[in-house]
Amino acid sequence: MQADIPAQFPTLEALNTGIVNCNRCPRLRTYCAEVARLRRRAYIDWEYWGRPVPSFGDPEARVLALGLAPGAHGSNRTGRPFTGDGSGDFLYPVLYEAGFASQPTATSRNDGMKLTDLWITSVGRCAPPENKPTTEELSNCSIWLDQELRLLKNLRVVVCLGRIAFDGFLAHEARMNKIGARSAYIFAHGAEYTLPSRRIAITSYHPSLQNTNTGKLTKPMFMAVFERARQLARL
Ligand code: SF4
Repeated sequence: MQADIPAQFPTLEALNTGIVNCNRCPRLRTYCAEVARLRRRAYIDWEYWGRPVPSFGDPEARVLALGLAPGAHGSNRTGRPFTGDGSGDFLYPVLYEAGFASQPTATSRNDGMKLTDLWITSVGRCAPPENKPTTEELSNCSIWLDQELRLLKNLRVVVCLGRIAFDGFLAHEARMNKIGARSAYIFAHGAEYTLPSRRIAITSYHPSLQNTNTGKLTKPMFMAVFERARQLARL
């Protein structure tokens, strides 16, 4: 890990530029670049993004969707969260029906997608081998989440996609001295917590193929999460 702590960025746009140029995790930067060099046969004509993936959405958002990390051939290929893989194919139709996304399909950074009242990010910004960032890598990347949550001035509701995202959000609240013991907050699909910071966390199973192909997470279950987020954010 590099010892540097980046400066406080004044805007979300500037923060995204800082994220894209981050080199704090050599293992992940090497992996992302290597995946981009080798590519998957189905995407052999693509020029992979191959770097940290910037966040995406509406800077005035009242709702945040917080994921785990980019997929090697999804976001690491397209350069936009949940774009170009099975998780995104499950997520964006729900966001469209819930009124957060302008279209149900997400294929590339230039597909015309616009988000309203929603910002999407993740606790890890570089694709990890086997979808498993190390504890140290998640800790390295938490500096970006801290700055992002400071810059999302209207934020009310955080939809945590999976246990690791929920843990990452709670760790942020603890770093900000907003919560003490984290044991009061238990992950379960559809759980809801109003935190002392007045932000509300909703937890959901992650829309990974492992969960959606097995029926652990169904479309109605996922719709209910984002409809509840709308309600809590008073949209
Ligand atoms: S995972 Fe986060 S901290 Fe690590 S190199 Fe990528 S952007 Fe930087």
